[in-house]
Amino acid sequence: MFKFLHPRDEIIEIINRIYQNGMTTTSGGNLSILDDDGSIWITPKGIDKGSLIPKNIVRVLPNGTVDGIHEPSSELPFHIAIYKARRDIKAIVHAHPPALVSFAITRKIPDTRIVPKASEICGKVGYAKYALPGSNALGAVIASVFESGHDTVLMENHGIVTVGNSLFHAFQKLETLDFCARLTLKANILGEVKVLSNQELELSRKEIFLDEFEHTSPSSKEKELRKKIISLIHRSYSQNLVTSTEGTFSARVNDDEFIITPWGMDRKYLSEEDLVLIKNNKREAGKKPSRSVGLHREIYRNHTFINAILIAHPPNILAFGVCDKKFDTRTIPESYLVLREIPKIPYGAELGKSEQDLSSITNLISENTPIILCENDCIIVTGSSLLQSYDRLEVAEFSAKSVIASKAIGEVVPINKSEIDELEKAFGI
Ligand SMILES: [Zn+2]
Repeated sequence: MFKFLHPRDEIIEIINRIYQNGMTTTSGGNLSILDDDGSIWITPKGIDKGSLIPKNIVRVLPNGTVDGIHEPSSELPFHIAIYKARRDIKAIVHAHPPALVSFAITRKIPDTRIVPKASEICGKVGYAKYALPGSNALGAVIASVFESGHDTVLMENHGIVTVGNSLFHAFQKLETLDFCARLTLKANILGEVKVLSNQELELSRKEIFLDEFEHTSPSSKEKELRKKIISLIHRSYSQNLVTSTEGTFSARVNDDEFIITPWGMDRKYLSEEDLVLIKNNKREAGKKPSRSVGLHREIYRNHTFINAILIAHPPNILAFGVCDKKFDTRTIPESYLVLREIPKIPYGAELGKSEQDLSSITNLISENTPIILCENDCIIVTGSSLLQSYDRLEVAEFSAKSVIASKAIGEVVPINKSEIDELEKAFGI
């Protein structure tokens, strides 16, 4: 996506994503890219981050000359210090996202072992002591933490800096750590937070091997489903139900065919052609399906009433997945009717290491149990159509959000047994 973008345009693209995701204010944060000739392209000082355009981006030449209509960001000294300290770094993102600032001001580091892929993406998170913004001293402190091998650094009483060999990779670290921070803050309101052991983290690093087939003539039904999946995955990205590279949606085309999202591609820009058709357990030639493809296949194979499966990581419902509390769906009639029971299963089975793991999940799913929460990982939502599954995903996230917010004002009073009986009777479930 970014390969042929000019650094100015790349910076605008990513700053817009950061601003739209609520991870920076108009004045806070700055981004830069190191060009091959040693120039640094950087966001300007004091210009509204919500309405930047390419010509606002400033170029600082290797000899220090500034080329542009604005002054460079006041944090230019620490960007220069980081590029000097590590030759492999090509881009830097700095911001003050509220959840990460909560950690910065309590002087704590978010634990990325709360979900499997976060530690893979962010690496070990470093910690930089406070120093005056814009000062060379701050540059020296931060650069020394990056020099010791960290790619993600929490700044004491300030914010976060991430780096990468591209701006997207730096952004991905920011987005992922912010997700861990939001998840941890929410889960701590509920109960005791559990993190994964190194052994458990290793389990998730698995490659998928499927034979290929040449896909020559997609049916109209398949084309229609591709369009629907893309529209929903874009919507779910803007609603924070999935992150840029996490979240797997699939839809059944017929008995032994389904379409699934690809592995590792940015969800924001996915298009119909990126989706992968799986037919008789073979993958469309040249494409890599999501690593959970085996689980999707087993669910479709065993449940003919299921036509769409969504695996997502919404922070509110997942907060129940990373702590010791159960999510009770008896909050309002809509929640109980749409969600029914949501069982929580121990971490690991959803990774599908064995046939036994896959059948343990498949056997748990039924028309009365369409959703499963997987500890420290994800939520699996099934339905008879993409829209029904998507509605269930949204209702689960909204309901969990209400329960977490309600902790500030009192104890939740669930709908009682006789009211549930009455609901079940009235709605024929
Ligand atoms: Zn700052």
